[in-house]
This record gives sequence, C-alpha cells and structure tokens, in this order.
Amino acid sequence: MIYHDLNELTELRRQSRTLALVPTMGALHEGHLSLVRLAKEKADRVIVSVFVNPTQFAPGEDYEQYPRDLEKDAAAVEALGADVFAPSVSLIYPDYPKPAQVTIDPGEAARILEGKTRPTHFAGVCQVVAKLFNLVRPDVAVFGQKDAQQLTIIKQMVKDLSYPIDIVSAPIVRDETGLALSSRNQYLSQPQRQQALALSKALAAGEKFLEGGQPQQAVEAAWKVLENTTGVVADYAAAVDAQGFQPLAVAGQSGIPVSESFPAGAAAYLLVAAKVGSTRLIDNTYCQYPAGKA
Ligand code: AMP
Repeated sequence: MIYHDLNELTELRRQSRTLALVPTMGALHEGHLSLVRLAKEKADRVIVSVFVNPTQFAPGEDYEQYPRDLEKDAAAVEALGADVFAPSVSLIYPDYPKPAQVTIDPGEAARILEGKTRPTHFAGVCQVVAKLFNLVRPDVAVFGQKDAQQLTIIKQMVKDLSYPIDIVSAPIVRDETGLALSSRNQYLSQPQRQQALALSKALAAGEKFLEGGQPQQAVEAAWKVLENTTGVVADYAAAVDAQGFQPLAVAGQSGIPVSESFPAGAAAYLLVAAKVGSTRLIDNTYCQYPAGKA
C-alpha cells in the first residue's frame, strides 16, 4: 500500500508492534531492496519512504531530473511485504518554497568531504530525516553504508537529539562489474558506466594500504586511479575513522586537519567521490585498521 497522509500513517503505527523505516528518494534498486529485507528482520512492519527531498539539493544540482517512478517503486516494496510512504512536498515542508525557520546543524562531520563539495546537503538530509522520524515514529531506521558520511551524521543526530530509534546500517550492494548501485547510475551512458568503475578500482587500489596502517598511501593510490581515468574528474579520496569520521588522510580537499593518532584496532572508511560526465558518484569501503598502527 502507498500511504500519502498522516491519518493512515498513524493507523499503521497503531497496528504495528515494531515498525522499521527505510528512508529513500525512490528510483529503487537492489541496494534499497537489501535495506528493506534487513528492516524486515528488525521489525514486524516496514515502511519505505519515497521522497525526493528538495532541501538536500543545491541550486544547479539534479533535483528536477532526479528519476521518479512511484508505481514501480511501490510494486518492488510491496513484493517484499512492506509499504510505501510517499508524502507530498507540502506535507514535509508546509511553507515550501520558503525555507524552514528552525533547522538542524549537522555538526563537524558535515563540513568535510561531501559537506565541503555540497555545503547545504547534510542540513537538508537532517531536516528531512528528523521530519520522517517525527511523522512515522519508527522503532528502527535502516541506512546504507553507501552514504557513510550520512550514516555517521544520522547516528550523531539520533544521539544528540535523543531520538528513541535504533539505527541499523546495511552493506553496499554492487553490480557484477563492481559498480556500487545508485539511482544516479541511470544518468550514465554505456562508456560512462565503464569509466565509473574507476571508483571501485580506486578503493581496491587503496584499501590494502589502509589495512596495512598507511592511510596516506591508501588515499594517494585511490586518488591516482581516479586521476588517471579518462572521463573521470576526481573530487576527493579520503581515509577517516569510522567512529567519529575523523580524517586520517585526504586528497583533493585542502585545509582539512588530519588526526595523527588513531585508536589501535578501530575501523576506518576509505571514501572516494568523482564526476563521470556531469554525474557525481560516491563510493567507499570499510576496513579494520590494524592494531598498533596509528
Ligand atoms: P537514496 O535513495 O539514494 O537517498 O538512498 C536511500 C538509502 O539507500 C540510503 O540509506 C543509502 O545509503 C542506501 N543505498 C543507496 N545505494 C545503496 C547501495 N548500492 N547499497 C546499499 N545501500 C544503498
């Protein structure tokens, strides 16, 4: 079923012993559906929000072109035994297009990497996720590791604003070539899909260094792959600690202080972002940083 209004949603909430929310912007692919499957293991009812959130796009980004196909999305979600919440823009933002007065500062982790290239992005993400949490009132919410920086910021928001919601993360789903699934892959031509493999290849080139305790070398190796691929314009390559998103090494963005010490045995992300034609793509890998190396 597709829920559009709040009364229906309240009824769903009332009927559910435990409710899981999977926030998405639609154009659902296997990556999203893996989140739905995981959510089904965590709660007896699952609702997938489908909302292309205007406040997380900056002027000139792809808000207008972003792929939308609610019927197809709903069929895929319903086939998994879950429901869809497809709110209108005016339900989420009553004063739209006037900006909201009370907003959320997404904090330190939002000022680097994705946040440096897209300075208003995470405030928009926090705004919509907070609203979805308030409207749906889930017990659990599932997010993908594909957007690792977003996941970190949402976990921080839940902690800092005391949301009684369990945040569950799901691993990245890739196609058979290694390309991370993304709704934006629809924008790529066939040759561009080949070029886009530079992102996963960059991670493969860098991750052995990160696992060996060499974040700087990891970032340089990843950056080199992006830089050397025709048709790809590198944005950044970075190693960060997975807990607090503290940078360990960064290429492509200057002025970011890097942490000299790192807790032995902690986990780290290696992250890349690049443009393929006019399509901006991100990818990352998670690894255990070796004990004793910092
Ligand atoms: P989006 O619709 O792109 O905003 O993504 C909605 C959710 O799906 C986010 O939590 C993403 O991290 C997650 N997601 C997107 N792509 C993938 C993927 N390839 N594998 C796993 N999760 C994903």
